[in-house]
Amino acid sequence: DCGESVDLAPLVEDSLLLVEHALHKGAVEVTTDLPALPQVAIDAGEMQQVVINLVLNAAQAMGEAGRLSLVLTETARDGQPGVALVVRDTGPGIAPDHLPSIFDPFFTTRRGEGTGLGLSISQSIVQRAGGLITAANAPEGGAVFTVWLPTAG
Ligand code: ADP
Repeated sequence: DCGESVDLAPLVEDSLLLVEHALHKGAVEVTTDLPALPQVAIDAGEMQQVVINLVLNAAQAMGEAGRLSLVLTETARDGQPGVALVVRDTGPGIAPDHLPSIFDPFFTTRRGEGTGLGLSISQSIVQRAGGLITAANAPEGGAVFTVWLPTAG
Protein backbone atom coordinates (compact mmCIF):
# COMPACT_ATOMS: atom_id res chain seq x y z
CA ASP A 1 0.00 0.00 0.00
CA CYS A 2 1.33 3.41 -1.05
CA GLY A 3 -0.38 5.25 1.81
CA GLU A 4 -1.71 7.86 -0.59
CA SER A 5 -5.20 9.32 -0.08
CA VAL A 6 -7.16 10.37 -3.14
CA ASP A 7 -10.26 12.45 -3.81
CA LEU A 8 -11.97 10.51 -6.57
CA ALA A 9 -14.21 13.28 -7.96
CA PRO A 10 -11.39 15.53 -9.28
CA LEU A 11 -9.38 12.46 -10.32
CA VAL A 12 -12.25 11.23 -12.50
CA GLU A 13 -12.73 14.75 -13.97
CA ASP A 14 -9.02 14.98 -14.80
CA SER A 15 -9.04 11.51 -16.36
CA LEU A 16 -11.98 12.48 -18.57
CA LEU A 17 -10.15 15.58 -19.78
CA LEU A 18 -7.17 13.43 -20.77
CA VAL A 19 -9.27 11.22 -23.06
CA GLU A 20 -11.66 13.89 -24.35
CA HIS A 21 -10.37 13.43 -27.90
CA ALA A 22 -11.51 9.79 -27.91
CA LEU A 23 -15.02 10.73 -26.79
CA HIS A 24 -15.66 13.83 -28.85
CA LYS A 25 -14.47 12.68 -32.24
CA GLY A 26 -17.89 11.04 -32.46
CA ALA A 27 -21.13 11.85 -30.71
CA VAL A 28 -20.60 10.32 -27.30
CA GLU A 29 -22.58 12.13 -24.64
CA VAL A 30 -20.90 12.09 -21.24
CA THR A 31 -22.84 12.53 -18.01
CA THR A 32 -21.26 12.59 -14.57
CA ASP A 33 -22.44 12.59 -10.99
CA LEU A 34 -19.27 13.09 -8.98
CA PRO A 35 -19.99 14.35 -5.47
CA ALA A 36 -17.22 15.07 -2.95
CA LEU A 37 -16.84 11.88 -0.89
CA PRO A 38 -14.35 10.54 1.65
CA GLN A 39 -10.86 9.91 0.27
CA VAL A 40 -9.77 6.43 -0.77
CA ALA A 41 -6.38 4.79 -0.31
CA ILE A 42 -4.85 4.22 -3.73
CA ASP A 43 -2.01 5.61 -5.83
CA ALA A 44 -3.48 8.54 -7.80
CA GLY A 45 -1.56 7.80 -11.01
CA GLU A 46 -2.61 4.16 -10.94
CA MET A 47 -6.26 5.00 -10.30
CA GLN A 48 -6.16 7.46 -13.18
CA GLN A 49 -4.89 4.60 -15.38
CA VAL A 50 -7.88 2.49 -14.29
CA VAL A 51 -10.42 5.23 -15.06
CA ILE A 52 -8.84 6.03 -18.43
CA ASN A 53 -8.86 2.35 -19.36
CA LEU A 54 -12.56 1.97 -18.51
CA VAL A 55 -13.49 5.13 -20.43
CA LEU A 56 -11.47 4.17 -23.52
CA ASN A 57 -12.94 0.65 -23.46
CA ALA A 58 -16.44 2.17 -23.32
CA ALA A 59 -15.61 4.55 -26.17
CA GLN A 60 -14.30 1.65 -28.27
CA ALA A 61 -17.37 -0.46 -27.51
CA MET A 62 -19.78 2.34 -28.44
CA GLY A 63 -18.06 3.47 -31.59
CA GLU A 64 -19.22 6.81 -32.95
CA ALA A 65 -22.23 7.48 -30.76
CA GLY A 66 -23.64 6.60 -27.38
CA ARG A 67 -23.92 7.67 -23.79
CA LEU A 68 -21.26 7.28 -21.13
CA SER A 69 -22.01 7.88 -17.48
CA LEU A 70 -19.68 8.03 -14.51
CA VAL A 71 -21.16 8.05 -11.01
CA LEU A 72 -19.53 8.10 -7.57
CA THR A 73 -21.39 6.88 -4.50
CA GLU A 74 -20.45 6.15 -0.92
CA THR A 75 -20.95 2.39 -0.57
CA ALA A 76 -20.06 0.03 2.27
CA ARG A 77 -19.02 -3.53 1.41
CA ASP A 78 -19.18 -6.26 4.04
CA GLY A 79 -19.45 -3.47 6.60
CA GLN A 80 -16.31 -1.75 5.31
CA PRO A 81 -16.79 1.92 4.31
CA GLY A 82 -15.85 2.71 0.73
CA VAL A 83 -16.55 4.55 -2.47
CA ALA A 84 -17.87 3.03 -5.70
CA LEU A 85 -17.26 4.39 -9.19
CA VAL A 86 -19.78 3.10 -11.73
CA VAL A 87 -18.88 3.48 -15.42
CA ARG A 88 -21.76 2.66 -17.74
CA ASP A 89 -21.97 2.75 -21.52
CA THR A 90 -24.61 2.15 -24.19
CA GLY A 91 -22.45 -0.14 -26.33
CA PRO A 92 -23.27 -3.77 -27.17
CA GLY A 93 -22.38 -5.00 -23.68
CA ILE A 94 -20.30 -8.08 -22.92
CA ALA A 95 -21.26 -11.50 -24.26
CA PRO A 96 -22.32 -13.63 -21.27
CA ASP A 97 -19.75 -16.33 -22.12
CA HIS A 98 -16.98 -13.68 -22.13
CA LEU A 99 -17.88 -12.21 -18.74
CA PRO A 100 -15.77 -14.72 -16.75
CA SER A 101 -12.68 -14.05 -18.94
CA ILE A 102 -12.50 -10.31 -19.56
CA PHE A 103 -10.15 -9.68 -16.60
CA ASP A 104 -7.73 -12.41 -17.77
CA PRO A 105 -4.41 -11.17 -19.18
CA PHE A 106 -4.45 -11.19 -23.00
CA PHE A 107 -8.20 -11.80 -23.28
CA THR A 108 -9.43 -9.54 -26.08
CA THR A 109 -12.19 -9.55 -28.65
CA ARG A 110 -10.42 -6.74 -30.50
CA ARG A 111 -7.95 -8.99 -32.31
CA GLY A 112 -5.12 -7.07 -33.93
CA GLU A 113 -6.05 -3.92 -32.00
CA GLY A 114 -6.37 -4.79 -28.34
CA THR A 115 -3.69 -6.22 -26.06
CA GLY A 116 -6.19 -7.66 -23.62
CA LEU A 117 -4.11 -6.22 -20.79
CA GLY A 118 -6.14 -3.16 -19.78
CA LEU A 119 -8.67 -4.85 -17.52
CA SER A 120 -6.11 -7.29 -16.14
CA ILE A 121 -3.81 -4.42 -15.09
CA SER A 122 -6.79 -2.44 -13.77
CA GLN A 123 -7.88 -5.38 -11.65
CA SER A 124 -4.36 -5.77 -10.18
CA ILE A 125 -4.23 -2.07 -9.30
CA VAL A 126 -7.65 -2.10 -7.63
CA GLN A 127 -7.05 -5.36 -5.75
CA ARG A 128 -3.68 -4.16 -4.44
CA ALA A 129 -5.52 -1.18 -2.92
CA GLY A 130 -7.90 -3.59 -1.17
CA GLY A 131 -10.71 -2.92 -3.62
CA LEU A 132 -12.78 -4.78 -6.16
CA ILE A 133 -13.62 -4.31 -9.84
CA THR A 134 -16.64 -6.02 -11.39
CA ALA A 135 -18.32 -6.12 -14.79
CA ALA A 136 -21.95 -6.67 -15.72
CA ASN A 137 -24.46 -5.90 -18.41
CA ALA A 138 -27.18 -3.33 -17.83
CA PRO A 139 -30.73 -4.71 -18.25
CA GLU A 140 -31.35 -2.04 -20.90
CA GLY A 141 -28.10 -2.96 -22.72
CA GLY A 142 -24.52 -1.77 -22.46
CA ALA A 143 -21.70 -2.62 -20.07
CA VAL A 144 -21.43 -1.53 -16.44
CA PHE A 145 -18.08 -1.58 -14.64
CA THR A 146 -17.94 -0.92 -10.90
CA VAL A 147 -14.74 -0.07 -9.04
CA TRP A 148 -15.06 -0.21 -5.28
CA LEU A 149 -12.30 1.12 -3.03
CA PRO A 150 -12.10 1.26 0.77
CA THR A 151 -11.97 4.71 2.31
CA ALA A 152 -8.58 5.87 3.56
CA GLY A 153 -7.57 5.92 7.20
P1 ADP B 1 -8.53 -4.72 -24.85
O1 ADP B 1 -9.30 -3.43 -24.73
O2 ADP B 1 -7.13 -4.52 -25.30
O3 ADP B 1 -9.24 -5.79 -25.63
P2 ADP B 1 -9.17 -5.07 -22.03
O4 ADP B 1 -8.52 -5.93 -20.99
O5 ADP B 1 -9.28 -3.62 -21.71
O6 ADP B 1 -8.34 -5.32 -23.36
O7 ADP B 1 -10.63 -5.63 -22.35
C1 ADP B 1 -10.79 -7.03 -22.60
C2 ADP B 1 -12.09 -7.29 -23.36
O8 ADP B 1 -13.20 -6.97 -22.53
C3 ADP B 1 -12.32 -6.46 -24.62
O9 ADP B 1 -11.64 -6.99 -25.72
C4 ADP B 1 -13.84 -6.56 -24.76
O10 ADP B 1 -14.21 -7.81 -25.30
C5 ADP B 1 -14.30 -6.56 -23.31
N1 ADP B 1 -14.73 -5.21 -22.88
C6 ADP B 1 -14.05 -4.35 -22.09
N2 ADP B 1 -14.75 -3.22 -21.88
C7 ADP B 1 -15.91 -3.36 -22.55
C8 ADP B 1 -17.09 -2.54 -22.74
N3 ADP B 1 -17.18 -1.33 -22.17
N4 ADP B 1 -18.11 -3.03 -23.49
C9 ADP B 1 -18.02 -4.26 -24.07
N5 ADP B 1 -16.95 -5.08 -23.92
C10 ADP B 1 -15.91 -4.64 -23.19
